[in-house]
Amino acid sequence: MSHTVVIGGGICGLAAGSSLAAQGEQVTVLEAQHFLGGLATTLPGKTGAGFDFGPHAYHARNQRVLDLFKEIASDGFPAKKKNVSIKFRGKYYKYPLEALDIAKSMSPVVAVRAFLDFFLESLRRKLRPRPLVSAEDWVVQAMGRTLYDMFFGPYTAKVWGMPPSQLAASFAQHRIPHISLMKVVLSSLRKGYAKRTGTEHRYAPLVIELFYPPKGAGLISERLAERIRAASGTNQVRTNTLVTGIDLDGDRVVGVRYRMVPATDRGGQLCMLASGTETAVDPWSADRGAEQRITCDRIVNTAPLPALIDLLGDAVSPEAKAAARYLRFRALTIVGLRVKRPHALPAQSIYFQDKTFNRLSETRNYGGSEICAPDETILLCDITCDVNDRIWNADPDELGKICAQELEQEGFMKVSELAESVVLRSTFGYPVYMVGYERAIDTLMVELMRFPGLVTGGRQGLYKYVDMDIASEMGLAMADFLASGRTKQEAIGAVPYEDRVFA
Ligand SMILES: Cc1cc2nc3c(=O)[nH]c(=O)nc-3n(C[C@H](O)[C@H](O)[C@H](O)COP(=O)(O)OP(=O)(O)OC[C@H]3O[C@@H](n4cnc5c(N)ncnc54)[C@H](O)[C@@H]3O)c2cc1C
Repeated sequence: MSHTVVIGGGICGLAAGSSLAAQGEQVTVLEAQHFLGGLATTLPGKTGAGFDFGPHAYHARNQRVLDLFKEIASDGFPAKKKNVSIKFRGKYYKYPLEALDIAKSMSPVVAVRAFLDFFLESLRRKLRPRPLVSAEDWVVQAMGRTLYDMFFGPYTAKVWGMPPSQLAASFAQHRIPHISLMKVVLSSLRKGYAKRTGTEHRYAPLVIELFYPPKGAGLISERLAERIRAASGTNQVRTNTLVTGIDLDGDRVVGVRYRMVPATDRGGQLCMLASGTETAVDPWSADRGAEQRITCDRIVNTAPLPALIDLLGDAVSPEAKAAARYLRFRALTIVGLRVKRPHALPAQSIYFQDKTFNRLSETRNYGGSEICAPDETILLCDITCDVNDRIWNADPDELGKICAQELEQEGFMKVSELAESVVLRSTFGYPVYMVGYERAIDTLMVELMRFPGLVTGGRQGLYKYVDMDIASEMGLAMADFLASGRTKQEAIGAVPYEDRVFA
């Protein structure tokens, strides 16, 4: 019988492992942290109240995955309507920001300038088309310079830590909703008219369903792990186990090397997710145990793609190593606040342009009714950062106070109500789609075709900016592939990277 080692006990790895285990395969999951779930975890603070890695509600884009989640959390997985806002130029709007909202914030004079920009840009595109290389090129050609300077440029630079001129055009194409300039201008002019006549503009928000287990997002991962263990006495789901190398015989997988490592929680830091291959930080440093080995003939990788290339060592080409070094992740610090009031925000999450954090969320509003005591609430502040910068190195209490003060200014809480501040950190928060990253990805996709028993998927493992449902879908797809007996060439040889769910 085959033995599959799954690297990483996040939701993707656990979905893959539970599907293989259900089909009678032997499975060992190796997770570096002292807990399961990866980014989709819920960690207890001082009083047992649960803190997620930012808001983690389950979306319902794939029926197979939704059915799986519902079956796993059959004791409670209520649906809620999405209710997310954005604060833009001093006012709250529905998220994502739409043309009409931008129009509401513009004076007719600015609207005319935006339209002229857009008109000249459309003309230039027809007379002298140029290749769209960066996210800046894409947004400016689609919406004009005025809209870009007003919102998309500054916000993207804040979240991603680099100007949109350095991010790939494909990033903007996939992540930025297209805004019709004509609608912006018409509704702005209509706003001037509405002021004079007293009529009002109505806008119906997009309704999307979200699901959240009352005890926290991490429940799904815990239960997937229970299924793997229950399927056979030989299956294992191990925590505190950092994978440090992959052994091959030619291109054939023969084993995985690992070291036992301590938990990454210290003081108010509940965890630091890392792959162990980063050069800038190592949460385990000298505390790694002796290297040990497990024999296996298949690997499902969900650790970051550049880390996988490091784990393969000399088995990969110098070109693949160079390509892996080109890829980078934006790090993440989540500041969690336990606040002495039962309810704080008018939405599930709110995006901000001018605060230390990019997004603020209240877990209870997603459905986390059992996440903390009824007279308290949990607020989560997402801050994107780089490893070892000011935010990454800041003390949890200091960050908690800064966030609480900014929340007091917005009227959401009082600083005196702050009962606990924690941080959750990850070296891999968001895969960054820099200009030229497609070339690096192409090189890696070709290289990985060489290893028949090794598949990689998930948000980090495939370097795709996906949510939990898609990460789980990737896990199930990897299990389906391994159980099918097909070759990689047959299964994904003709599938372009954009459409791939594993490599
Ligand atoms: C701030 C934020 C908010 C989000 N909100 C939502 C949301 O509301 N809804 C939603 O659906 N999705 C959301 N997501 C996305 C979601 O978190 C991910 O899509 C999903 O959790 C990815 O799962 P994964 O298993 O692919 O990766 P991960 O969760 O990153 O799991 C990878 C695992 O591999 C382990 N690992 C790494 N290296 C090694 C090694 N060498 N040895 C052993 N183990 C290793 C890690 O410790 C980790 O547990 C959000 C993400 C972020 C950052």
